[in-house]
Amino acid sequence: MSKKKIIVIGAGFAGIKATKTLSKKLKNEAEITLIDKHSYHTMMTQLHEVAAGRVPFTNAQYDLHKLFAHRKNVQILTDEVLGLDQAGKTVTTKSSGTLAYDYVIVAIGGEPNDFGVPGVKDHAFTLWSMADALKIKRHLEAIVEKASLEHDDAKRKAMLNFVVAGSGFTGIEMVGELIDWRKVVARDYKLDEAEISLNVVEMMPTILNTLDRADADKVVTYLGKKNVNLLLNQTITEVASDHIKIKDGADIPTHTLIWTTGVQGNTQAQAYGLAESERGHRLTANAYMEAIGFEDQGVYVAGDVSGFIEEATGRPTPQIVEAAEQTAHTAADNIIAAIKGGDKHQFVGKYQGTMVSVGSKWGVASLMGKLHLSGFFAMAVKHLIYILYTLQIGSLWYFFTYLKNEFFHTPNNRNLFRGHTSRLGNVLWSVPLRIFYGLVWLTEASTKWIGDGQLLHPSTWFGKGSWFTNDLHFPFAWLKETADVAAGASTGAADTTAAASGAATSGAAEATQSAAEFGLSYSYGHEPMAVLDKVPHWLEPVFKVMIPNKEVALLMQKFMSIVEVALAFALIVGAFTWLAAAATAALTVMFSLSGMFYWVNIWFIFVAIALMNGSGRSFGLDKWLQPWLQKHFFKWWYGKSKSLYK
Ligand SMILES: Cc1cc2nc3c(=O)[nH]c(=O)nc-3n(C[C@H](O)[C@H](O)[C@H](O)COP(=O)(O)OP(=O)(O)OC[C@H]3O[C@@H](n4cnc5c(N)ncnc54)[C@H](O)[C@@H]3O)c2cc1C
Repeated sequence: MSKKKIIVIGAGFAGIKATKTLSKKLKNEAEITLIDKHSYHTMMTQLHEVAAGRVPFTNAQYDLHKLFAHRKNVQILTDEVLGLDQAGKTVTTKSSGTLAYDYVIVAIGGEPNDFGVPGVKDHAFTLWSMADALKIKRHLEAIVEKASLEHDDAKRKAMLNFVVAGSGFTGIEMVGELIDWRKVVARDYKLDEAEISLNVVEMMPTILNTLDRADADKVVTYLGKKNVNLLLNQTITEVASDHIKIKDGADIPTHTLIWTTGVQGNTQAQAYGLAESERGHRLTANAYMEAIGFEDQGVYVAGDVSGFIEEATGRPTPQIVEAAEQTAHTAADNIIAAIKGGDKHQFVGKYQGTMVSVGSKWGVASLMGKLHLSGFFAMAVKHLIYILYTLQIGSLWYFFTYLKNEFFHTPNNRNLFRGHTSRLGNVLWSVPLRIFYGLVWLTEASTKWIGDGQLLHPSTWFGKGSWFTNDLHFPFAWLKETADVAAGASTGAADTTAAASGAATSGAAEATQSAAEFGLSYSYGHEPMAVLDKVPHWLEPVFKVMIPNKEVALLMQKFMSIVEVALAFALIVGAFTWLAAAATAALTVMFSLSGMFYWVNIWFIFVAIALMNGSGRSFGLDKWLQPWLQKHFFKWWYGKSKSLYK
């Protein structure tokens, strides 16, 4: 059977979902081409963060090749689709000619609706693409810099007056980011924060009108506290470069109007010859997400551009991520059914909730209409959803990118933890600690290698007390049943001062426990106390599986000794420091749970955590190793990212 050709137009939330689903379920039956104007998937839901300079733009650009690197049945094409010939079953692109399809999904998203207000196109900023977000970002920087040098008070005031039109999710999230941004620019440009005025103009008497009223009221109170002016019942009638006109009101001087009053379907779809709704340019669809008028002809629509009328509300599907993904899933499922057979799938919208962030630290969330959160917890849920999204699209790369830019590398305290998770210090100061800690592990490991021998005389190594002999050092009771641990008992007792290597037989440990005193540092004459005197009952079965008998135990002893030396050297030379430090923390926990570790050395864990700060990049091999690996490993794994995929 020849493979079916499927074209997905638009790599937004809908296009990505459809392509992933089709690729997974039609491994051998289809070739899928995902076409987008850009080489990346734009995380639209983060554009306000990019616009206000909280996160780098790369945080919101998910390279399509990275997302589909291992999907053999998916081709990526960077191009603009200009037209669709339903009879000839082809799409026409701007630069790659005409492409044939058996099935096509149109998922080209939405666009801002200016409602015909004069001047919006020429003078307002919209926020519906990466280009829009970067344009706002550059303008914000330029206008504040200009204002800081302006002597004329009226002109300066106009430049520092920022207006957001519309109080939907996009508008409120945008002004929320500006609250954080205001603090930073005021400091950088030596302005009084009160000089920078933030305003939201809304034609309705209330804001966030699709939200639960109690949640919306919390936002009103929060915005009030942050000195954001809400101009309610106000309609913008005209926009000029240095002011806006309000119906029945005075002109508002401003050089920055961010227009977020509404979304309509992408009007480029008008050239595709599909049926549109009367209002909002949505492509009409039946419950199978087939384009009306082209049912059973292989033309499907999904996402913001689609307009299936939901029975529950009598309105088109909402223009939100959940609806985009669910409509895409329906379209993909029905293509799969058409190719492989099976029942068709009807779309039924199931929306789990809404989350609105107001800046980096505060937000509101309504989950399943039942659980209402605000502040830290609402934001935590929102982050969790994003993190799950990166995992759902199968991208560890963007999982880490998200964590890095939202939590660990956010300048100016602009994150949920108010900067506590992203202090960027100089790792130079932890280099001595790294080398010292490596030497501690080397010393401990060397006693295991050398035993009673002498370091400077290799011929004496591996003798009595060494972990490379057939003496058993692990103190586990079940090994006693299979082996004579007498020899181990004497050397184990000798080891009690050694930390990581401090194996004591359970008998010896129990004997010393009675005299042992708890302490986090050693004091002269006192017997240090083990963290645990033996393996806890709940863990014993796991240890028994890992180390069932003496033979395995002896092998394990040798292996551990080698691993410890490797970790020690990795720390000293600063190679794979993060992994090495994390491994030492894990080993310390394991030793503690084995009854082989003392409270006085519990600092191992905290030092290990501290050294996961990239300390290997200063006077360590990681400085060269990590960039080299990132370049070569990721290039091998994902292929080379390009600005155009042809
Ligand atoms: C600032 C902001 C915040 C938001 N916050 C939320 C939120 O918190 N929760 C929520 O649920 N929703 C939110 N949304 C809405 C959400 O982003 C959209 O509903 C969602 O992106 C729709 O997905 P989509 O795939 O239909 O379209 P899009 O994500 O817009 O993707 C459309 C894709 O089609 C491509 N394309 C367009 N025309 C062509 C063409 N002719 N040829 C080829 N490719 C083309 C575009 O490049 C784009 O990649 C927010 C939107 C914005 C702007």
